[in-house]
Amino acid sequence: MRYISTRGKAPVLNFEEVVLTGLARDGGLYVPETWPQVSADEIRALAGLSYAEAAARLLQPFLGDSVSEADFRAMTEKAYASFLHKAVVPVSQLDANDFLMELYHGPTLAFKDVALQLLGLLYDHLLGRQKRRVTIIGATSGDTGSAAIEACRGRDSVDIFILHPAGRVSEVQRRQMTTVLDDNVHNIAVEGDFDDCQAMVKAMFNDHAFRDELAVSAVNSINWARVMAQIVYYFTVGVSLGSPDRPVSFTVPSGNFGDIYAGYAASRMGLPVEQLIVATNRNDILSRFFNGGEYRKTGVDPTISPSMDIQVSSNFERFLFDLHGRDGAKVSELMAALDREGGFSVNMSLLNEGIFSAGRSDEEETLATIRKTLHESAKLVDPHTAVGLKVAAVKRQGNSVPMVTLSTAHPAKFPDAVEKATGTRPGLPPHMAGLFEREERLTCLPNDLEVVKSFIKAHARIVGTEA
Ligand SMILES: *Cc1c(COP(=O)(O)O)cnc(C)c1O
Repeated sequence: MRYISTRGKAPVLNFEEVVLTGLARDGGLYVPETWPQVSADEIRALAGLSYAEAAARLLQPFLGDSVSEADFRAMTEKAYASFLHKAVVPVSQLDANDFLMELYHGPTLAFKDVALQLLGLLYDHLLGRQKRRVTIIGATSGDTGSAAIEACRGRDSVDIFILHPAGRVSEVQRRQMTTVLDDNVHNIAVEGDFDDCQAMVKAMFNDHAFRDELAVSAVNSINWARVMAQIVYYFTVGVSLGSPDRPVSFTVPSGNFGDIYAGYAASRMGLPVEQLIVATNRNDILSRFFNGGEYRKTGVDPTISPSMDIQVSSNFERFLFDLHGRDGAKVSELMAALDREGGFSVNMSLLNEGIFSAGRSDEEETLATIRKTLHESAKLVDPHTAVGLKVAAVKRQGNSVPMVTLSTAHPAKFPDAVEKATGTRPGLPPHMAGLFEREERLTCLPNDLEVVKSFIKAHARIVGTEA
């Protein structure tokens, strides 16, 4: 498989190069040159397989010659053995034709583990054989940082530096990052907000000398391997509900458009998806886009579903590329307008033909949905999942097609909101029981790019070694 940039001006790469590069040099994102096709018989044959086996079969076409079948099969086995549920991504039932896809059984209790556990192993495999190392630098408002740290801890090929806004992530989220004491893990608390952290990471990526010296890589959701790994659960859950002989609909709590883009990819590969519903909180750029055709930045408003508090969606460009017939020049033009004028519009007729629809849930509706789901279906859900359930109820067309809402985090990750809604404080699962007593390690730094850069240079093992 070859990968092309959404802006059409970066070199065509293979899988290995794409995983290690992240962002394309022309500012675009890499996508596969074509969508591999999975036939109805191949979809049917996924029934009854382990999650690891299904992942190996579905993803092999994306790998080309970069990873052998046997090596990749071993990687999926190992990645998903770290999950606390044998089914890896089980489905539970809320009503006659409403289902919940439980994506939170990984080590950090959020769906990002599904992709990152695999990505950590891919890094070791691809870099180890070339005796290379990379420096991973990322900014987090919570979930991504802990999932990335958990995936990279102790790996010889990777040093990881995660910036978070000091005092502005929840205590559970902070401790999930700072209690990982492996030598290759570096938590930096920046005296600023999440946007300051992200701006610094962006500046480090744009400093090509720094980027090359440290072999800087990204594990954020623009990395193609993350999107790829997320395609699998749409298929396995679809199959468990009767696909390919029965269509299925999905509602996805969305921020950076990574998870739902994987659902779009599954449909392009042959899964019969009836509706794909984007669910946002009051940071609703995506919902406004799908309902009115205008993609326009506004400020970010903090909510009780903080992992979806975004201004623009970093993976959205991949979808725009397909929407415009894979015209890289057109995508460049739209992204330039976003930078210059804060937004752009597309013709609604392009959107009306697709399987997408979208809606938003405000804070009160989200709390009410947590309460209602507990009372009516005896299930405690986190606020991100509740945003999905609310929007699914409003936007689904009829009840004949199964509706699967993606449950993206364990309720214990957001105990305050869940307690506020229900009066019940969800407990941490046993493997995390000691979290509040564990030793923490982090470095506080001022909101100053040069200070942060020197810290990273001083601690990355790649500096001074023969890479
Ligand atoms: C990251 C995250 C999301 C949003 O996923 P995207 O791929 O960015 O759309 C939703 N819920 C939770 C709990 C998350 O951690």
